[in-house]
Amino acid sequence: MMATALRIENPAGTSHHPGFLADTVAEDFPILHQRVHGRPLVYLDNAATTQKPRAVVEAMSRFYATDYANVHRGVYTLGARATGRFEGARARVQRFIHAPSPEEIIFVRGTTEGINLVASTFGEQHVQAGDDVLVTEMEHHSNIVPWQVLCQRKGARLRVVPIDDRGELDLEALAGLLGPRTRILAVAHVSNALGTLNPINEIVAMAHARGVPVLVDGAQAAPHLPLDVAALDADFYVFSSHKMYGPDGIGVLYGKRKLLEAMPPYQTGGDMIRSVSFERTTYDDLPHKFEAGTPAIAAAVGLHAAIDYLEAIGMAAIAREEEALLAHAVARLEAIPGVRLVGKAAHRAGAVSFVLEGVHPHDIATILDSRGVAIRAGHHCAQPVMDRFGVPATARVSVGMYNTRRDIDTLVEAVYETKEVMG
Ligand code: PLP
Repeated sequence: MMATALRIENPAGTSHHPGFLADTVAEDFPILHQRVHGRPLVYLDNAATTQKPRAVVEAMSRFYATDYANVHRGVYTLGARATGRFEGARARVQRFIHAPSPEEIIFVRGTTEGINLVASTFGEQHVQAGDDVLVTEMEHHSNIVPWQVLCQRKGARLRVVPIDDRGELDLEALAGLLGPRTRILAVAHVSNALGTLNPINEIVAMAHARGVPVLVDGAQAAPHLPLDVAALDADFYVFSSHKMYGPDGIGVLYGKRKLLEAMPPYQTGGDMIRSVSFERTTYDDLPHKFEAGTPAIAAAVGLHAAIDYLEAIGMAAIAREEEALLAHAVARLEAIPGVRLVGKAAHRAGAVSFVLEGVHPHDIATILDSRGVAIRAGHHCAQPVMDRFGVPATARVSVGMYNTRRDIDTLVEAVYETKEVMG
């Protein structure tokens, strides 16, 4: 019997009552039921990482207690069971993102490693001196630096699609930058610093019309939106388990089979070879070619449980409830005198960034913590975004499926108190 307390009577999640979802899942997240500095914890740093439901923690602990062994090696029963669970997780990810086949699902450590993998293999093969690599001004550092290093090594140009004052991508500029020397476009589905939800279908179509492949950084989309990489036609799509209620230490790189097959391995060693001699090594087929060494086995089992959990609720229901919650957060924050939102995109997912006149974001986060409210202050690993808006840092509120309007109201009260304390 699964000990998870997921009590969803209505798996399609058709309720429009805000807070319905959060109230339903609250019991599944024991960590949230504690006091911090004497106040009930309000966790609003979900863009950094999400908390884990019992279903995930228990799936991993059961796996360690009953089925754990190394994968793809042992002919003995435990080894076969562990391999079955690991490959079962891969198939679960495939269904979750609607990838054509499980061989196109590469397990990596997280989004960062997935992007580095593509930059050092596909990038190494396709980017030459004088070529362009296109990123956007709203990228996380992990979708900038690997490309920058590649460009420096190759004598290629890193070109940047600008964002406007609302924090939306300038699609006209994108069209102008997509040229005959562009070898790849690397773009976020959702911005972690601004919360902007990009028109990713349109962006991929624009790039493809010019013959440019696209890597989509889905780190901030996977926890919030239904994904269909086949319909999107993304060439590469990357995301991290820990941001979608799964364990840390594992993430996913989806790539189109024909691209992955043509790419050289990223790391070499055990588990990725077909044969090795001192003269010559041949590599295994997909996905193993890209999974050298012992993978994060229990983490894969945990990710499987997280996806089961997400889909029992329904990604469409999560997207709908979180959208309403964010609209509430935007309206309430905007109404506070002295608060300025950084990023006002028409379409948003996950996060709202703001600054408060005369108060450093770190002071806001510190005072909020004393009220039990956990938010992030800083550059959010997106320093070019901070430069674009002329701020050193922002305070960022990022929601998950367990957050309620009450949480937002508590946050807003604490921002008012911050004004009093600092004023
Ligand atoms: N890309 C985006 C948009 C992110 O928000 C993050 C994490 O904050 C990353 C990439 C990096 O993810 P990870 O640290 O899990 O590799």
